[in-house]
Amino acid sequence: MLTKRCAFFRFQSRIRSFRIGWKIVLYLVMTVFFGDNNVIMAKEPQMDEFTLGEKSLKIYFFGHATLRLDYNDVIIHIDPVAEYTDYSRQPKADLILVTHHHGDHLDKAVIELLSKPTTSLLINKTTYEILKKGNVLEHGKKWQSHDIEVEAVPAYNITPGRDKYHPKGRDNGYVLTLGKTRIYIAGDTENIPEMNALENIDIAFLPMNQPYTMTPEQVFAAINVIKPRIVYPYHYGDTDVNRLLELMKNTKDVEVRIRDLQ
Ligand SMILES: [Zn+2]
Repeated sequence: MLTKRCAFFRFQSRIRSFRIGWKIVLYLVMTVFFGDNNVIMAKEPQMDEFTLGEKSLKIYFFGHATLRLDYNDVIIHIDPVAEYTDYSRQPKADLILVTHHHGDHLDKAVIELLSKPTTSLLINKTTYEILKKGNVLEHGKKWQSHDIEVEAVPAYNITPGRDKYHPKGRDNGYVLTLGKTRIYIAGDTENIPEMNALENIDIAFLPMNQPYTMTPEQVFAAINVIKPRIVYPYHYGDTDVNRLLELMKNTKDVEVRIRDLQ
């Protein structure tokens, strides 16, 4: 009996040391690969940095249409959605822009998480109907604070049969002017005639996935109209970004930057 019990305890302690050993191995592997004590690590987002005169601009690419812009110490979250980053690790917003109410652009819980008493929230009407708060910016209207200006512009489908996704008159794109730098956040749109009126755009975010937004050919046409200095195709899902690069190979004065914005 005694011998049997001893054998049993030996067996148990062997299992325990196996479990502890397994954890140590996992810890060492995670430490070697991630260089940190946290076993669960969020992937760091890609970021581009620009110098705008005296100030700096950092653009964080969280995925799809979800971005963060840091204009010096002003934090601007664009279409913040939990699927694309861990917002508990993100700074609260001075300004939030939401283009429209679709689930890959609007996340009510994240808006709450990022909001502080001084946060400005610029949205379209269908987003207001869900949030019941915020400043509805109609097309052509502008919002301004210090050297930051935001203008709402139209975003909609033009291909027959696709206007059910984004009908004309409902959703927003935005033109942000930060000091003298102008950034076009197109929202979910095709290459609409209103793009002809966009002037002096330095950086453009253009959506590229059918059937909801543009084909690479439409993005190419939009680039030729807008003539930005830098283009980020975004909201591109499974679309092959190489098709756009192929179309752009003879366009010398526009830089196409591909980031993790599927
Ligand atoms: Zn949409």
